[in-house]
Amino acid sequence: MAKKILVGGAGGFIGGHLVASLVQQGLANNIRAVDIKPFDEWYQRFPQVENLQLDLRLKDACEKAVSGTERVYNLAADMGGMGFIENNKGLCMLSVLINTHLLMAAKDAGVERFFYASSACVYAADKQTDPAVTGLKEADAYPAMPEDGYGWEKLFSERLCRHFREDFGVTTRVARFHNVYGPHGTYDGGREKAPAAICRKVIAAKLAGKKDIEIWGDGHQTRSFMYIDDCLFGIDKIITSKTLTFPINLGSAEKVSINQLVDIVESIAGIKLKRNYNLSAPKGVNGRNSDNTLIKQVFGWEPATPLRAGMEKTYAWIYDQMTRRA
Ligand code: NAD
Repeated sequence: MAKKILVGGAGGFIGGHLVASLVQQGLANNIRAVDIKPFDEWYQRFPQVENLQLDLRLKDACEKAVSGTERVYNLAADMGGMGFIENNKGLCMLSVLINTHLLMAAKDAGVERFFYASSACVYAADKQTDPAVTGLKEADAYPAMPEDGYGWEKLFSERLCRHFREDFGVTTRVARFHNVYGPHGTYDGGREKAPAAICRKVIAAKLAGKKDIEIWGDGHQTRSFMYIDDCLFGIDKIITSKTLTFPINLGSAEKVSINQLVDIVESIAGIKLKRNYNLSAPKGVNGRNSDNTLIKQVFGWEPATPLRAGMEKTYAWIYDQMTRRA
């Protein structure tokens, strides 16, 4: 029987889409989907796949999850948007147990390929003080001063992947995701990120006939946002690469301010709202964008779904969820 593919964090946003894409490729019988959440809370779940509820912080759970697999995707982490990571640094750092125990289990089981989902939050704070930031290059992660808590965990886990490759021969691949968005993800409850949160606020205002919304920060902070389909395509390129041993940016280079993101969502919704800026809410760094020189060099490709096109699909899904719920 063909060996299995483990997707850790399969009940989450990116993990759910990854399982969906592997199922579409005809690999359903080979997939083991694992998440700590109860099954009814998974964003996407496929009955034809082996689904397990396990806490991957535990070593024996990782051994069970990895057993008989040839490929591991580690997308499991205790994470969320700025509102979550700024207030839960200890919890974010505990995800170090997930990657550590998965790597140890992968090494013992002779796994052929191991993918780790890192983040743009590894980048040093002093390179992100200006909204007019130039794109962050892979080398900008050092000297290290990442996002406290979440970013330090990501940087350490990246490093662990490197040393498991160098010392134990585990073929590890690491991508630094820059804000991923799309349907089937968190849009409320405190872990949501800006694109989904703004869609939710605009839709709630529209449905309630309200004329204003709250924006975290002054709206001038800049980011880039990658549509989920680009993320999946990039993950596949990176995990199958023969040569790419070091962490690589996987993100869009279409930089926008939060105000411009709100403009897009308002125009999709067909309304204009008064913006109340909450300057004491968590807002993260002032400016962040992905420098895609390396990914273009290695794959001749970069994430390029226009923000407006991806946001239309995301808005439609969140609108559907909210009106159904109502
Ligand atoms: P998500 O929160 O939707 O998914 C993560 C999943 O991991 C959740 O379903 C959660 O229940 C699961 N999980 C948490 N602790 C676990 C444990 N102990 N055992 C098993 N499962 C556990 O997040 P996502 O957006 O899908 O992110 C996936 C990965 O990509 C994460 O590592 C995240 O840090 C990274 N990442 C995401 C983004 C983004 O914009 N979404 C940006 C940078 C990095």
